[in-house]
Amino acid sequence: MHSNPPPSTQIVFDNSYAQLPGQFHARQNPTAVSSPALIKVNERLAHDLNLDVNYLTSPTGVQMLAGNHVPQGSDPIAMAYAGHQFGNWVPQLGDGRAILLGEVLDRDGARVDLQLKGAGRTRYSRNGDGRAWLGPVLREYVVSEAMAALNIPTTRALACVTTGEHVLREEAFPGAVLTRVAQGHIRVGTFEYFAARGDTPSLRILADYAIDRFYPDARDAPAPHLSLLKSVLARQAELIAKWMGVGFIHGVMNTDNMSVVGETIDYGPCAFIDAYHPQTVFSYIDQMGRYAYANQPDMGKWNLTRFASTLLPLVHPDEDAAVDMAQDALDTFRDVFADAWTAIFRAKLGLSMQEDEDPALIQGLLDLMAENQADFTQTFRGLSGLLGSEAIPENNPVRGLFNDPSAFDGWVNMWRVRLARETRSEPDMRSEMRAVNPAYIPRNHRVEKMITAAVDGDFSFFDRLLDVLSRPFDDQPQFASYQTPPKPSEVVQQTFCGT
Ligand code: AMP
Ligand code: MG
Repeated sequence: MHSNPPPSTQIVFDNSYAQLPGQFHARQNPTAVSSPALIKVNERLAHDLNLDVNYLTSPTGVQMLAGNHVPQGSDPIAMAYAGHQFGNWVPQLGDGRAILLGEVLDRDGARVDLQLKGAGRTRYSRNGDGRAWLGPVLREYVVSEAMAALNIPTTRALACVTTGEHVLREEAFPGAVLTRVAQGHIRVGTFEYFAARGDTPSLRILADYAIDRFYPDARDAPAPHLSLLKSVLARQAELIAKWMGVGFIHGVMNTDNMSVVGETIDYGPCAFIDAYHPQTVFSYIDQMGRYAYANQPDMGKWNLTRFASTLLPLVHPDEDAAVDMAQDALDTFRDVFADAWTAIFRAKLGLSMQEDEDPALIQGLLDLMAENQADFTQTFRGLSGLLGSEAIPENNPVRGLFNDPSAFDGWVNMWRVRLARETRSEPDMRSEMRAVNPAYIPRNHRVEKMITAAVDGDFSFFDRLLDVLSRPFDDQPQFASYQTPPKPSEVVQQTFCGT
């Protein structure tokens, strides 16, 4: 008797990145750990990916999720990439602790990567230990799944395990491994890696691979690689606008953390804004505020400019012509982003028609929120309670979020004048607003509390947080306290680097 599950329940890999030439990656098996234990398998995601939950939770499955067992069909690699970190060029980064097991096709036939994060050293580890500790693994699990529930493109969390080993950071913490699922792990930094080496043949292989896998329409465009640039630019502009719409701060928008498929990737010192201020920063490694909330579109464009410069030799044989074409594309970023941003915030205010004054109305509210330290999520969530024309009740909860409630009243009156030109019924407006203004976001103080409890062996906070955040647009009265911002004593001053 042997305990291997029957073949039908095992993972059916269909690897393509591992087939690329050797300069794209390093073959690397995960490094085994002493005693893996399952924390969680994401059953819904497993189902969508055609993966058997019974296999994943079986002893063999858990060994695989910890990196102790390489499943049949997996061709484990660490991917090569470079990047600009906080504006500084680093010619070689690469997966220093992540190992791509391979690719699978989901129920719709879409290709996704299965990657173990924290699975041991690779050729690209530099001075790192190749490991992750429980805190960042659980943070990434919770926040990436919350983002997915908020309808924001993101890598996903399929599973997490503890390793039974300790990882040394500021102190010794429990080790963990996250199984990450992504449409792809190609970063702007992957392109930079080859461009910096002057390796145009490899760059062309990479660009054509990205087109085939992520942007097949670009294949037939008159200038496919220019089309690739425009497509990535559009996806990133929309993604960043979506972040802004929920008060999300990525925290480390380095070019190695910007995915060309347009998913949010690499959840390190990320966090959601409580009281709104456009210059909010959480990461202690971002002293200059480079990646502050309101800087994200500019930083996105900065990264896309790096991306464009890698593509120049592919865009046109004449360099001046290539630069002109790339610059024209980059010059559209501002408008593409502004359109996406305005559409998102219009919907948050219940506006379906487009009027020229809308951006000013939106900005007016944001400015008031900043001046009055109003909670971002609660303000937008509560707005639908002020539809109609009755006098604004003095005890209206949104009003109470503003240090100067009467300033908010003035804005509400302007908003109502604008709303009067909308043609939808009030109930329709209300339900549409509630479907885009979440009640629940992964508030930083809740995430930190969850991590502290988990390190002490209590995963109930993790389970509850995941449960609450899986339905962010529902009221869930039993979890009302998860809607509220931190008390002054609960405010998390800094999010760790996340490694
Ligand atoms: P990040 O800031 O997490 O995006 O990581 C930046 C680079 O550092 C990537 O190349 C990572 O693979 C690498 N890295 C981060 N943590 C570790 C670690 N503990 N061991 C090895 N490499 C790491
Ligand atoms: Mg990274």
